Amino acid sequence: MNEMLSTENPRKGGLAPWRWPLHWQILLGLIIGAGIGLWIGVWAVGQVDASVPAEARGAAAGKIASESYAYLFFDLVGDIFIQGLKLIIVPLVTTSIILAVANLTKHGDGSTGFGRLTGKTLGYYAATSVISVLLGLAVVNLLSPGLTTDDAGQTVGILEGQDLSAFAGDQQAVDEKVGGKQATDFLDVFREMVPPNLIEAAAQGKLLGLIIVSILIGFFLSKSDGEPARVVKTFTQGVYDLTMAITDLVLKLAPLGIIGLIAATLGEQYAKLVPDDRLDTFVSGLTMFAGGAVLALAIHFFIVMPLILLFVARVNPIRHYRAMMPALLTAFSTASSSATLPVTMECVEDRAGVSRKTASFVLPLGATVNMDGTALYECVAAIFICQAFGIELTFAQQFLVVITAVLTSIGVAGVPSASLVAIVVILTAVQDALPAGSLPEGVLLVSGLGLLFVFDRPLDMVRTAVNVFSDSVGAVTIARTEGETDVLGDSPDS
Ligand code: ASP
Repeated sequence: MNEMLSTENPRKGGLAPWRWPLHWQILLGLIIGAGIGLWIGVWAVGQVDASVPAEARGAAAGKIASESYAYLFFDLVGDIFIQGLKLIIVPLVTTSIILAVANLTKHGDGSTGFGRLTGKTLGYYAATSVISVLLGLAVVNLLSPGLTTDDAGQTVGILEGQDLSAFAGDQQAVDEKVGGKQATDFLDVFREMVPPNLIEAAAQGKLLGLIIVSILIGFFLSKSDGEPARVVKTFTQGVYDLTMAITDLVLKLAPLGIIGLIAATLGEQYAKLVPDDRLDTFVSGLTMFAGGAVLALAIHFFIVMPLILLFVARVNPIRHYRAMMPALLTAFSTASSSATLPVTMECVEDRAGVSRKTASFVLPLGATVNMDGTALYECVAAIFICQAFGIELTFAQQFLVVITAVLTSIGVAGVPSASLVAIVVILTAVQDALPAGSLPEGVLLVSGLGLLFVFDRPLDMVRTAVNVFSDSVGAVTIARTEGETDVLGDSPDS
């Protein structure tokens, strides 16, 4: 096992952090990054001119923070780290899948069990996504963060009587991010399965097409025994080994990269949020929304997932949390499950002991299509926005939200803020299903998206960690049901 990836405690390296196991180093990086980020944020808020009106102070401080030398430096360090991770993804995913499928061994009946593996994987993804969305639905209905009581004691949406033009700046950002997305774009998931141009798919990081093509290549390689096929396999193995060596190097630099990412993100977010007077206007609603989303994500992370580990996979959940620590901290810092994929694969194979065959198949596919945290968040966010407009959805309309949240989460890319696109799709679908007159003439539910911007980044960090954790739990569960015996010490009580 890679020494860096051992799960032992930091005392092993004494006072020399560079000798600590990786997850302790990353945690230290996170703490140092948070300290630097706070310093940048507090400094930027202090720099805002007293003449700037209250509603513009957040934006002004954010701008000052993001133009400071300290921010630019740490942002650069973070970007280089994320780019290092992204650099590995295409060769890692393609070679590991090709090798895993090409080397599938035949059972007595001539089958390889590949169909069964696929079935279990998709079944796990579907089941956990549905559970997570229902969890989000329950929490958002229970807390009703978008509703408040007016002076007359009536229940109204938190946007009641507010000037929506306050979100005009954010609205522009929404348009830039999600421009032109329609509900039918969900069908693109199927289109992406067959990339017309492999190089283009690789260049754009469209993993789904690459995964399918890699499976096909592996499948046909497994069918041919001749010299040319052997050469291709050996070459693929060589590229895989090289990729793993580079992955190790990038991982060694992860603590530094995470200092950069957290310092830049926290610095900018703090400066933007703390003086933002929308927080005062909607403080109860927005913070309750963010708190509710985190609560539901935490229930999924700390209760649902361990129950699956304990009763389906029959392994010790605590060991799995420890094994996945580097990947969870990387997911939290990057807010990108795609960029985290190399770390997830290392942790699941080296620390959790899942075979390469299972990990290579379940994890890349999971990073692309299985997003429990995202699906849950989409549901909470969409219903919160409806509530904010004073609309309480019927059972049928909530059902529509659940279905669209599960389906759109499949198509959401594993990059920061990608859920916003899916939430637009959900809100458009709900708007179409609302009876005429539910909203004032010309008002679109989508314009409430600005409400989500305030807490988007911190919530993105949390939901991405949940996305990655669910993929890893899937890999462990499937490996165990496939009879693998080396996973996490094998039994819940060992
Ligand atoms: N950032 C998330 C991920 O990469 C996607 C999202 O929910 O925005 O998994």
